[in-house]
Amino acid sequence: MPKRNDLEHKALSHIANTGGDGILQSDLWRQLGASSREGSRVALKLENKGLIRREKELCEGRWTYRLYPKRKPASINSIADCPCLTCAENLRCGSWGATSPNDCEKLTEWILQQSGIVGMSPQGDS
Ligand code: SF4
Repeated sequence: MPKRNDLEHKALSHIANTGGDGILQSDLWRQLGASSREGSRVALKLENKGLIRREKELCEGRWTYRLYPKRKPASINSIADCPCLTCAENLRCGSWGATSPNDCEKLTEWILQQSGIVGMSPQGDS
């Protein structure tokens, strides 16, 4: 039987890689070679740490849990249109230089767009 911390780490890694589909608790423990009792303890611990979410699911006539990651792995797509990637100032840009991310309008605008702040209509505006 794997050590508990090792099992937690492996379980979290497996769950994180399922993305939005999640994984049935019983399938996960089977894949990791753990008992369902040990697996249930680890799932509760991960949930209490706020790392996963458990949702009750009826599977083949029995109630079980499907485990979902709370955080999804970062994707390269999330920065694909960042202005820094194609900026002519890229090599000279830094907190030490004349151009800096600290006061770059292009970068600030992009970050605000990503967060949904830019493009939202003001409250009461219809
Ligand atoms: S922070 Fe602004 S100036 Fe610097 S590389 Fe990014 S887009 Fe270019």
